Parts: sequence; C-alpha cells; structure tokens
Amino acid sequence: MKFFDTHTHVNFTAFKDDQEATIKRALDSETWMINVGTQTDTSKSAVELTQKYPEGIFAAIGLHPVHTYQQMLDEEESHFESRAEKFDEKIYENMLTEKVVGMGECGLDYFRLPADQDAEKIKELQKAEFIKQIIFAKKHKLTLIVHCRDAYDNVLEILQKEYAGFPGVIHSFTDNWETAKKFLDVGFYVALNGILTFDKSGRLAQVVENTPLDRLLIETDAPYLTPPPYRGKRNEPAYVKYVAMKIAEIKKLDTEEVASKTFENGCELFRINPSQF
Ligand SMILES: [Zn+2]
Repeated sequence: MKFFDTHTHVNFTAFKDDQEATIKRALDSETWMINVGTQTDTSKSAVELTQKYPEGIFAAIGLHPVHTYQQMLDEEESHFESRAEKFDEKIYENMLTEKVVGMGECGLDYFRLPADQDAEKIKELQKAEFIKQIIFAKKHKLTLIVHCRDAYDNVLEILQKEYAGFPGVIHSFTDNWETAKKFLDVGFYVALNGILTFDKSGRLAQVVENTPLDRLLIETDAPYLTPPPYRGKRNEPAYVKYVAMKIAEIKKLDTEEVASKTFENGCELFRINPSQF
C-alpha cells in the first residue's frame, strides 16, 4: 500500500537529530512526501532533501503568511520567533528544479494577528505577499499550496479573482462542507490531516463524506497535529496512514482504496509522473 503525505515539514529543525531515520521510516512504509517551505531557509532545506533522495521526496517553496511580519508565536507544540520576510522572486526562482512541485505554503492567517500591531495593515501585507506567490505559481507552473486560518472568505475571494482554473490545494482544511464546496468549485483539492482524527464537532467528517475521493489529499503537517495513537508526540510522514484509515472509516471504503486514490491524486495535482521517480 502506497501513501502520499502531500504536506509535511521534515525540513524543520524538529527533525534535525533524526531526519534521515524519519525519511527512512516513511520510505520503508511506502510513504512519499512533499516537504513544504515556510520562508527562504525552510524552502531551501526542503529542496536540499529532494537532492539527497532519488525517489519519493519532493519540495514546495514559499512564504507562510505568519512570516510576512515580525512577532513571537506560541504554537501548540512549539515556540518560535517569526522573522519578517518579503517574497523575493529571484531567490525563489533560483531554487526551482523538477522536484520542486509546489508553491507554498502561502495564504492568509488571521488567527495569530499580533495585538500590538495594526491588524488591517497586516492583512493587506499578507494579501500582497499571497498574490505575488500566485503570480509566481502561474508563471512557473507550480501547484499552489494554500494555508488559511480564520480567513476563508478572503482566500476564496483572491483565488476566484486571481487563480480560477489553476491547480491548487487548500491544506489542513478545518472549516465546514459549505466552504469546502467553494474550494472544489474553484478547482481545488481539499487536504486533511490529523485534525480529522480528533475533530469532535463532526464537521470534518461531513466534509469527507461529501467530497469526492478524487478531490481529497492526505497529509500530516508534521511535526504538528499528531493523530492517535501517537497524539502528544511529534508527528511524522509515516503516520499519514492514520488519516487514510479515518477517511476510509467515514467513507466506508478500504484503507487500500483511499491510500491508492489519494496517492494518485497527489501525483496528478503536483504533476508527478510516479514511474519517473
Ligand atoms: Zn504546514
């Protein structure tokens, strides 16, 4: 059974001591991955990983909305300082290779707006950096990986205006079916991760029920959002199978079918020819 973790961060420092072992565990369990960048340095480290492994490791490069301005972040499972960066086309152009398949993660994040700064200004800044990356994705035929928190309306508005008909995924989807449908309508795929396995609201189960299997992707967003039975520990790509199992349970399908279809979906959306790698 093959799995495709379409959004992970083995390129992050959380894996600095056992990055190779983590990747080996994934590849041994036939799990492919896209390591996703969040600013210049993590984008570069994602690309470097594709050069170390001949098969199954791809990269996305981009600037996460929370890194467009300076602030201290208190994440669920980590503490870090966000350094303000601007999206620099030249720097990102120099990273492009055939294994760089995605632009992102980019998007809007209104959840973590700092109390001591002008919220409207930060929103405008985030939108401007998001649009720059949309233009870059179109120009270089990259699939857009969109991060969105508390900003679904604004993200959809921008996509409808700037990106309709181009390939993309709304990653770590957490909203309801009504919103999911709007992303499907602009041609996007919907990606689910560990949140689905511990969502008590039933909202995401409904999204899974209603979204056709050929428009779903699975991901871990490791090191975050670890599903049971490893909840509380660091997440990793090999655990993406628990997301596939949950989708199978909700859709009343075999895990095998969910795994192989979401693997195919990942290859199709990111224009990967699986026999080539
Ligand atoms: Zn991420």
